[in-house]
Amino acid sequence: MTLPPGKLFLLAALLFVAALAQAATPSAPSKTGDRNVAAGPAGRAPATARVPVAAITKHKLTTARRPGSASKAHQSRARQGSQRTGTPVRADDWTLGNDGKVIYLTFDDGPQPEFTPKVLTVLARHHAKATFFVLGREAAKYPDLIATLLSQGHTLGNHTWDHPQLTKLPPERMRQEILSGVKSKCFRPPYRDTNAAVAAVAAANHQREVLWDVDTKDWDKPGAAKIERQILRGVFPGAVVLLHDGGGDRTQTVTALDRALTQLTARGYTFRALPC
Ligand SMILES: [Zn+2]
Repeated sequence: MTLPPGKLFLLAALLFVAALAQAATPSAPSKTGDRNVAAGPAGRAPATARVPVAAITKHKLTTARRPGSASKAHQSRARQGSQRTGTPVRADDWTLGNDGKVIYLTFDDGPQPEFTPKVLTVLARHHAKATFFVLGREAAKYPDLIATLLSQGHTLGNHTWDHPQLTKLPPERMRQEILSGVKSKCFRPPYRDTNAAVAAVAAANHQREVLWDVDTKDWDKPGAAKIERQILRGVFPGAVVLLHDGGGDRTQTVTALDRALTQLTARGYTFRALPC
């Protein structure tokens, strides 16, 4: 498109006036500030999004909840996610509250000598951090894998020692299963099987129950394409995604993860470890 010189001058003058007005408005966000916090290529930075520099620091230090800091839209999306799956622990409890497009990938039932390293390779390729809810008995067998994943910036969650249905156990055995899992601030009951007694033991052990928003059902080996679709359809900012690196052949999970991360990165998402 070309404009005659007269119109071009008028356009330039208008732009100049608009720029002056922008600079003179005290509440106008600084471009640098927005760039620092804007999540994704759209660069949308709602009013609350300018808070996070302090918030991120706080978030890293503690798991304290920051109520009211998430945007309305974000809260609503997170609520929808929770309602879909009935998640008692809401995903947005963990987010930075900045409407950021952050996803929390979680891998259960490992570590496993063949597939955990493959998952780690895919995560590294996409600059993604994740959380591994490991079994105490497997962690004891493969301490090097635990050290490796921690050294790469991922975090560990307790998934019990032996993966039982906790609510079916006598109280003392249930307690032992939880206490003999790995040291972490996060706890995930096997089979999502929990009740007040289980939650109380976890809480007394300074562990918070973490369930999930998106169940990929990868344990059922439905095919890589289906797992990928489950991830892509289910996610929203702050979503916790359930995958497995242990408990069987996870070839499909590894393939699906690689493809999904490519697409989600293109959508502007980043992937962080839960503060466990
Ligand atoms: Zn499990």
